[in-house]
Amino acid sequence: MIEASLKDLAAALRAGTLSSVELTTLFLDRIDALNPSLNAFITVDRDGALTAARAADARLAAGTAGPLTGIPLAHKDVFCTEGVRTTCASRMLENFVSPYDAHVVSQLKAVGAVMLGKTNMDEFAMGSSNENTHFGPTKNPWNTGRVPGGSSGGSAVAVAARLAPIATGTDTGGSVRQPAALTGVTGIKPTYGVVSRYGMIAYASSLDQGGAFGRSAEDCALLLSAMAGFDPRDSTSVERETEDYTRDLGKPLAGLRIGLPKEFFAEGMDDDVRAATEAALDQYRQLGATTVEVSLPNAKLAIPAYYVIAPAEASSNLSRFDGVRYGHRAPEYGDLADMYSKSRAQGFGAEVKRRILVGTYVLSHGYYDAYYLQAQKLRRLIAEDFIAAFTQCDVIAGPTSPTVAWPIGEKSDDPVQMYLQDIYTIAVNLAGLPGLSLPCGTGANDLPVGLQLIGNYFDEARLLNVAHGFQQTTDWHRRMPAVG
Ligand code: GLN
Repeated sequence: MIEASLKDLAAALRAGTLSSVELTTLFLDRIDALNPSLNAFITVDRDGALTAARAADARLAAGTAGPLTGIPLAHKDVFCTEGVRTTCASRMLENFVSPYDAHVVSQLKAVGAVMLGKTNMDEFAMGSSNENTHFGPTKNPWNTGRVPGGSSGGSAVAVAARLAPIATGTDTGGSVRQPAALTGVTGIKPTYGVVSRYGMIAYASSLDQGGAFGRSAEDCALLLSAMAGFDPRDSTSVERETEDYTRDLGKPLAGLRIGLPKEFFAEGMDDDVRAATEAALDQYRQLGATTVEVSLPNAKLAIPAYYVIAPAEASSNLSRFDGVRYGHRAPEYGDLADMYSKSRAQGFGAEVKRRILVGTYVLSHGYYDAYYLQAQKLRRLIAEDFIAAFTQCDVIAGPTSPTVAWPIGEKSDDPVQMYLQDIYTIAVNLAGLPGLSLPCGTGANDLPVGLQLIGNYFDEARLLNVAHGFQQTTDWHRRMPAVG
């Protein structure tokens, strides 16, 4: 059962060969057995999950179930959940219990999905390895000495190790796609504005976007269909008809034009990643797609632009954690300023402090024009490159990550090395485009390699179709790490 697709699970639930309580218990027991070694979950809500499963079983019996009714899932611990703590993997929010649900959480509750718990992440979604967490690093199930990627690493590991069939994540610069690549699962970040940010604790608001993890593109399509939707409580939520993202899954790929950005295929990626990427492109050619070279000349400026814009927004967003309204308050302090300063010094980890300092600096008088304004101009140029490229192709493909999963600790003392891991993903967020990563092979030490597909605005259904076509003729997405 832990191997089954969402479609098969839903069919078994409807047929009554399996109840949601049984299915939920299966995953809860697996979490109990495997989470001590993987550390994918920060909080497990057994009682809440079983209560939701019983309600789902009643809906199934009444014949009012949808495709996700009774299906267990995990939420990244950045989404607020009423009554269950939401930590953002920070000491600052270690004991914070939100009085309301994020839009994504309420949407999934409404369709009868069953939340198992909240997953580990880089603190406030800042990181690429899941090492920046107050709750200890998450381990990659393919090799527990290695990182799973980040910042949604806990959700990626939960799906890779089958601790949950599907999970939510967020992607500000690659945090769904990169951990999906490093753990061998499928992950999609939709167009900015498709998923509401209401109740999704903010890192860099103009870049943050909720996304979906599953074993397959089909599972991601089902999850995204439930997560997405207009929400007036998020001013950047896009007012569009709700979509069924599974609608194009079966379309043939003959005639598909895949753009290959020459800058992505120059130096930068490891040889094993290159070999797996090339093999996947060959597979697409066999399926009838053609490849065409495109150019993203400003993509190389994405990392510097991002590391001005994201910290600037973070420094503003994180000013709300001051020890007064919610979160950690220093037990001892002098005056009010001392209380703010001690609470923040104790509550935030090193990477979060680094970003607040950088952000405050680039926004300060005298530097704003030189850094922040310049970065915003680069952002526009990067988006225009993509718009031009999409006149020549339907989707863009390339590697998701320049390397396979690396040993825990290897890059944690070198922030710039860590930032470079997002070299292929960050431009997509700056442009606001949808991106997907699917497992496409293995590299050194048999570790998973991900292929990134980038689509035009609101072309999620096509991205999922292109990924699904590959998964119909390959079995990389079915491979499972040897855990438990
Ligand atoms: N690794 C990038 C960062 O640290 C992206 C993280 C994300 O997408 N949340 O900011």
